[in-house]
Amino acid sequence: MIPLKNSSQISAMIEAGRITGEALLVAREHVREGISTLELDTLIRNHIEKCGAKPSFLGYCGFPASACISINDEVIHGIPSKKRILQEGDIVKIDVGAFYKGFHGDSARTIPVGKVSDEALKLIEVTRNSFFCGVEALKIGNRIGDVGSAIQGCVEKEGFSVVRRYIGHGVGHELHESPEVPNFGTAGRGTRLCAGMTLAIEPMVNIGSEEVYELADGWTVKTKDRSLSAHYENTVALTSEGVVITTLVDKSW
Ligand code: MG
Ligand code: MG
Repeated sequence: MIPLKNSSQISAMIEAGRITGEALLVAREHVREGISTLELDTLIRNHIEKCGAKPSFLGYCGFPASACISINDEVIHGIPSKKRILQEGDIVKIDVGAFYKGFHGDSARTIPVGKVSDEALKLIEVTRNSFFCGVEALKIGNRIGDVGSAIQGCVEKEGFSVVRRYIGHGVGHELHESPEVPNFGTAGRGTRLCAGMTLAIEPMVNIGSEEVYELADGWTVKTKDRSLSAHYENTVALTSEGVVITTLVDKSW
């Protein structure tokens, strides 16, 4: 069953989303060569708690930190560590959730560290663009497959690949709810979209093959061919008036 939200629940989700988005802005301010992923995690946690919210990921299925921070060929679910130091030329993916007034926000960005390759910049841009291609297909009466197909088309026309193993999801009172939101699919197929759906749309895009594997730490996911990967995620609410992107605080990012 898909938990639909009424307007007051969506208002609470907008507040949770704002805190989540702001935590990413705080992280972006501090991304530079020499900082550890644990320091970034602490800044994120401090911001969320200062807002009176809780980090959604801390303790989730035993995850030990407030943000997932993944570098270069790490796709998602990287564990922050004082031993992981950002280097010039890296791309770093930061995935954050905040729980506030009973609802979660869930959002991720990929950030270049200093000067990165043109290919890396293109990967980051295409991944972001593919999210917005998905949002254009997010209309009442359309289907989940319309969203996935739009994302996939946007990515593949640039020669990159969409990760299949991990997908977007409903989000609300629970961090992961129905329905599943794949970043690939067939237009016209899947669950019909309706007002009150709240979704985390989160394309994960690789320069090389879509194949990924999980490390022995039980969390970190990497590309099999070691190619770079980017991630872009926002929480969105579909209402009768249109789409609200709850975690999009800086509209240009
Ligand atoms: Mg996320
Ligand atoms: Mg998510």
